[in-house]
Amino acid sequence: ALIRKRLVIGNWKMHGARSTNATLLTGLCAGVSVVHNCDMAVCAPFPYLGQVSACLHGTGISWGSQDISKHQQGAFTGEVSADMLNDFGCQWALVGHSERRSLHGETDQLVADKAAAALSAGISPVVCVGETQAEQEAGLTHEVIQRQLQPVLALGAESLAKLVIAYEPVWAIGTGLTATPQQAQDVHAFIRAQLSGLNVPQVRILYGGSVKASNASSLFAMSDIDGALVGGASLVAEEFLRIAAS
Ligand code: PEP
Repeated sequence: ALIRKRLVIGNWKMHGARSTNATLLTGLCAGVSVVHNCDMAVCAPFPYLGQVSACLHGTGISWGSQDISKHQQGAFTGEVSADMLNDFGCQWALVGHSERRSLHGETDQLVADKAAAALSAGISPVVCVGETQAEQEAGLTHEVIQRQLQPVLALGAESLAKLVIAYEPVWAIGTGLTATPQQAQDVHAFIRAQLSGLNVPQVRILYGGSVKASNASSLFAMSDIDGALVGGASLVAEEFLRIAAS
C-alpha cells in the first residue's frame, strides 16, 4: 500500500468542551513530531471547528466535521453546508457514520449526496460503511457493504479518487470488540475489489471499531488497511498519537 499514505482520523462524536478540547489539542500539537508517514486529522462537533482550526492551523494535523448537509444553502434549519465547513478550513467530513444511519435515518443515497456536496466544495468525504451484528451473523456483510457503496460508486472515478472509505462494523463501534485483522482485511479487500474497475488505487480504506494503541499495529499490518477512524481512543492525546505512530 505504498501509494496510500496512512491516515488516522479521530471522531470525537458528541464529546468535548472548550476547556477539555484545549488540553487535547495542545497534547496533539506537542506530540505530533513523533508521528511519521501518517496523515492525522480530528473530526470535531460543529461549534468547536473554530477552536480546532485556531489550534491546529499550521501543525500538519488537519480537521473536519462529523456530518455535512447535502444542500448548498437556504431554508434548512440546523444544517451546516460544505461552504461553511470550508470557511473553517475543514479538509474532511464524515458521512454516513453508523450512528447517523441508525439514529437519524440516513439512507445510502443521502450519504452519497452528502459526499457529493463535500466534494463540490473541495472537502474530502470519509464515507462510513459497515454491517450490524445481525447482518454479520446472517452472512450479509458483503451484500450490505455493496448496497451502501453503490450510490457512492455512481459518483464516478473522479469523485472517488478524492474520498476515503471507512469500514466500521457496527458491532465493533464503542463496544470494545474489534474485528480481527484478518476479518477486517477480508472486508477491505472486498471493498477494494468493488473499486477495481474504476482505476482509483489511491483510495484509502480505513478501519474503525474500538481501535486502540494496543491493536492498531496488527490492523495496520494488513495490506488493504490504510489507517483508522478512531472514536473513544481519540479523546486522549497520548493514546491517539500512539495509534498514529503505530
Ligand atoms: C467511531 O465512532 O467511528 C468509532 C470507530 O468509535 P470507537 O473507536 O469508539 O469504536
